[in-house]
Amino acid sequence: MTARYALPPSRTLADITADALLADCGWCWGGWGNPCTTEPSGGMHLARFARACRRGLISDADMRVVRDAAPAVFTPGTVLDLEAAAA
Ligand SMILES: [Zn+2]
Repeated sequence: MTARYALPPSRTLADITADALLADCGWCWGGWGNPCTTEPSGGMHLARFARACRRGLISDADMRVVRDAAPAVFTPGTVLDLEAAAA
């Protein structure tokens, strides 16, 4: 069986993160424009990406990119290290 529709090209995690930063974090209540964590490097909770998706800031396709960058086992409180993800 062949796919009837081609998936749109994926955006980079850096672009997705920039848009997700426009949402507040529902896990730590990190505010607009600031990462959830700063030590040892900037990071964002997966809950924030989910909230950004619910608000239309990032797409379902973007969430697949985020999910692929997350560890195999995760919770909404799992922090995605932005520097490691950008490498
Ligand atoms: Zn957070």
